[in-house]
Amino acid sequence: MAEIRIEGVSKLFGDNYAVRDANLTIRDQEFLVLLGPSGCGKTTLLRAVAGLGMADAGQILIDGRDVTYLPPGERKISMVFQSYAIFPHMTVRDNIGFGLRMNKTPKAEITRRVDEAAELLHIEDLLERRPSDMSGGQRQRVAVARALAMQAQVLLMDEPLSNLDALLRLEMRAELKRLLSEVQATTIYVTHDQIEALSMGDRIAVMRDGVIQQCDQPSTVYSEPANQFVGSFIGNPPMNFIDGTVHGSGGDLVAEFDGNRLAPTAETSQALERLSGAAVRLGIRAENMQTLSEPADGAIEVTVSVVEPLGSQNLLTIDLGGNRLKVSTHPTFSVSPGDRVWLRLPENHVRWIDPETELVVA
Ligand code: ATP
Repeated sequence: MAEIRIEGVSKLFGDNYAVRDANLTIRDQEFLVLLGPSGCGKTTLLRAVAGLGMADAGQILIDGRDVTYLPPGERKISMVFQSYAIFPHMTVRDNIGFGLRMNKTPKAEITRRVDEAAELLHIEDLLERRPSDMSGGQRQRVAVARALAMQAQVLLMDEPLSNLDALLRLEMRAELKRLLSEVQATTIYVTHDQIEALSMGDRIAVMRDGVIQQCDQPSTVYSEPANQFVGSFIGNPPMNFIDGTVHGSGGDLVAEFDGNRLAPTAETSQALERLSGAAVRLGIRAENMQTLSEPADGAIEVTVSVVEPLGSQNLLTIDLGGNRLKVSTHPTFSVSPGDRVWLRLPENHVRWIDPETELVVA
């Protein structure tokens, strides 16, 4: 059992909060991804859990034990860094067994665990070689094997794939996912790559400016972002946003944008009523809009400015009022720049945002 509880953790550098009041519970054997843009505090939070940088406020509990002020060696954790931090002139076998030797693990046990970790990473053939003459991907495997050999119940990974080229990243992503489902560790994985987060995480905690914005399953973070930042940071293309206004109340409530009207469902209308007479922002994903080649009831007439054929889809750029939208269509949908098309925004896919707070309200 290794549940990690992060309770009200803050970390300051000078007067600046690198992490502010972080609260997260990572369940036993869960794979939690910390995701956010550069400088948002992911590494700082991970280092606080690792004991490499003490929290200024709050508590960290691993398996119910308060580790907030314990040194890393007493936290029963294992780490993989972006820089690998493996010794180039030591054999792979010695690298993988390094932590175990430091722990004074008996020799036979070290051999057994190193062999086991090497087998999991498919690097048995490299054990007697030195990392100095190995590829980036091979070195990365050594770093992961070394972490796994410790058999810690908590695994902390800081951008472990970011030094690899695109193809290798893709390969290692799937491999790591398989591997981590085999070893029964609770993992916190830091990345700024939203595809990595979406494809690997059991849950994703999205950070911005030191503050956790949302922590949910990937599908929820993607389709039900808590705020505009999450909607725009996750997904490629990012969520589209359309500025408009809300009028009326009850069953007569409507949203207007660029001369077009949209009547929300009764439930949404209730949530939007407090914005009546004020601005509202719609959020919708590229693949959730329906594009029609002819006028239809409730569809908005727009002009296509760019068509990007991407193989599995055509990505259209459309100007609507002051907003530039990305709309995904089937690759067989025939359209050229300058063409008129009609867009439907299915109500169940529309997220309604209060432009002042940038929070999703419905
Ligand atoms: P990246 O993806 O670029 O590694 P990150 O999300 O991991 O970014 P952190 O490295 O945790 O972000 O940094 C969070 C903030 O704290 C940044 O503004 C950074 O400049 C600041 N910071 C981090 N470490 C230190 C330090 N040792 N001294 C002063 N400021 C620091």
